[in-house]
Amino acid sequence: MIPKASSGVKLGDPLSDHFRLTAPQKKALSHLKLDTVRDLLFYLPFRYDIGGEGSSIAGLAPGMSASVTGVLEKLETRKSWKRKIPVGEGRIKDGSGMIKVMWFNQPYLAKKFVEGTVVRATGKIGGSPGKLYLANPEIELADGLPEGELFDQRENKDSDVQMFAMYPETSGVTSLWFRHALDRVFKSGALEQVEDPIPAAILAKYHLPKLSSALVWVHTPKSDKDATSARKRFAFEEVFLIQVERGQERAKQAREKSFTIDAPQEDIQGFIDSFSFKATAAQNRAIDAIVSDMKNISGKGPMSRLLEGDVGSGKTAVAATAAYAVVRTRPSGQTFGTLQVAYMAPTEILARQHFESFIKVFEHNPVSIGLITGSGCYKFPSKVFGGNPTAISRAQLLKWVANGEIPILIGTHALIQQSVIFKHLALVIIDEQHRFGTNQRKKLARKDVAIPHLLSMTATPIPRTLALTIYGDLDLTLLDEMPPGRKTIITEILGPENRALAYERIRKEIEAGHQAYIICPRIDEPDPQKEMAIQAKSVTAEAERLGNTVFSDFGLDVLHSKLKPAEKDAVMKDFVEHKTDILVATSVVEVGVNVPNATAILIEGAERFGLSQLHQLRGRVVRSNFQAYCFALAESKGERTRDRLSALKTAKNGFELAERDLMQRGPGELSGRKQWGISDIGMEALKNLKLVEAARDEALALVREDENLKSHPELSARISEREGKLHFE
Ligand code: ADP
Ligand code: MG
Repeated sequence: MIPKASSGVKLGDPLSDHFRLTAPQKKALSHLKLDTVRDLLFYLPFRYDIGGEGSSIAGLAPGMSASVTGVLEKLETRKSWKRKIPVGEGRIKDGSGMIKVMWFNQPYLAKKFVEGTVVRATGKIGGSPGKLYLANPEIELADGLPEGELFDQRENKDSDVQMFAMYPETSGVTSLWFRHALDRVFKSGALEQVEDPIPAAILAKYHLPKLSSALVWVHTPKSDKDATSARKRFAFEEVFLIQVERGQERAKQAREKSFTIDAPQEDIQGFIDSFSFKATAAQNRAIDAIVSDMKNISGKGPMSRLLEGDVGSGKTAVAATAAYAVVRTRPSGQTFGTLQVAYMAPTEILARQHFESFIKVFEHNPVSIGLITGSGCYKFPSKVFGGNPTAISRAQLLKWVANGEIPILIGTHALIQQSVIFKHLALVIIDEQHRFGTNQRKKLARKDVAIPHLLSMTATPIPRTLALTIYGDLDLTLLDEMPPGRKTIITEILGPENRALAYERIRKEIEAGHQAYIICPRIDEPDPQKEMAIQAKSVTAEAERLGNTVFSDFGLDVLHSKLKPAEKDAVMKDFVEHKTDILVATSVVEVGVNVPNATAILIEGAERFGLSQLHQLRGRVVRSNFQAYCFALAESKGERTRDRLSALKTAKNGFELAERDLMQRGPGELSGRKQWGISDIGMEALKNLKLVEAARDEALALVREDENLKSHPELSARISEREGKLHFE
């Protein structure tokens, strides 16, 4: 802990040069990827405690990891009535309130301690507001702490309160260690070496602190204001860096050579007219935008467009029309053959579904379509079977793709493997994939040839601030109109006491020849040692229970992520072919599975999901013109939970629900966040549209002026650093 020398600390120095680290500390720091003094400086606290170590009980909320200090009382052991496991119980009281403590499967712990002892208990907060408990906490005896310090911690809030930075801890390094270590670093003068990636003029314009001040304020704030101001700066910085990166990407793209798609307008219209339905105005607008992008007007580069539309808004027809325009176009300088399209889906199930829909949509305009997945390859039409696809060898398929004989290739990730070589790949369509950069496009394209156009599609409704940030390099088209004739889904928010109502409706639907989904939050029964969420229903147990009781006369099957791809496919195939009536599944069915005959969905433990995720799940039953039903079943009877869920009944669309998730439960709720490469603090920024827009405007202006960041070396360095860390899947 004692620095070898208090001066001469360089930002790039390994921490071990300046701190005496124990083996567990070394391990913990390396686990947190904190190697250098600089890493330490930029490891930001995730919250602050006021006036003491640990949280006050009144401020606790479910899901938090917390340490509370207080008096231990009411210790007892019993058997849990539900699951018949032994439980040790007690409660801890501090000046602000009290909280229950539970030791599952370790009842003896309740006997180990003496009532009335002052302890510090650290663990995860479970339960629901009003009924919180601290689960399997670690207890340290805090004897010797004067009681006065434990109570009334928040009394003198306005005067000189002290704020303590709390860091995400792993065993080995505590928040206390971080505070001491950072104190040393600050005292060493190392901060003087910190250079600010944000130009001073921008900081001044938005009243943001410079980096060195922000670092001091964020780690050792003297007031709320310091901390807030510092965090705002880091949030701005992150969005700014991302926007500069995206701006550069865009500028680079604009210079790339691409393919000119010039299918005659009448032909495109003819293709649209061949659908079994009339395209919506939104679909026509999207098609126009895409066709115009792909004309390859000079200075714009290849298309980079994101098509965002609720489940069922008809993205496939738009994608097919784009594909049609491409395969109607000959490679330049050639009087034969066509340009090619690659269409990538996130799962085998979806790839197969797209393959089948494309076969249908291209019925009147036959072209060869290939399907490539990890478990097999197909081609349509088949020489032997005519109207049916045939299984062919991978080698054969790849040969035909390479010589240009298969204009449209649909597949999973298998599609972007090195061995897949196209002759004239001019359009890449991606379904439900959040990021797909120029580099990946280049990989798909052959050397020296132009870069393919990109059409990315998503049904994941995301808030505008997030779209502006992560899709900064894409043009955005919304499919904000549903095909006519769709009935809105009748959605009911139910408590567990009304489960039977949902079962009754499901029974009626199945008896009328339809099918249903039942979604459970987990796959297997939880391990009570590890999991506090003892009530969450599991897919396997629930399927068994339902199959033996309420739905014993129906065909049930299970689908979850632990099944092998082939097993999943088989389950899905049976469901599509109506060999099963009810699919009990985890949220794996969330992404795009299309079974028009399914008209009801029951979601167990609905409060565990974000609203937009529930909306996605509900989207599984809007596939048809039958009346569809969604039952969101909350485990907890709390008013707040029901209130939140009731937005499912009132919100106009998925975008509105995503905004609510962001505002009410925080950015962590938004699905897909892992692949965005945005930190917690950056995500916080997304609640603030003004900040995001300002960061974006400034970044784009800067890139316009100095694309290669020649006069902003620090900014440039930070961006390369980010790129090193991000890896797109
Ligand atoms: P998503 O946007 O979720 O991918 P799909 O493209 O799968 O939606 O379309 C959902 C269903 O709606 C499909 O069965 C499709 O044939 C149908 N559909 C698409 N566009 C229209 C339209 N304009 N009118 C009627 N039905 C349509
Ligand atoms: Mg789709």
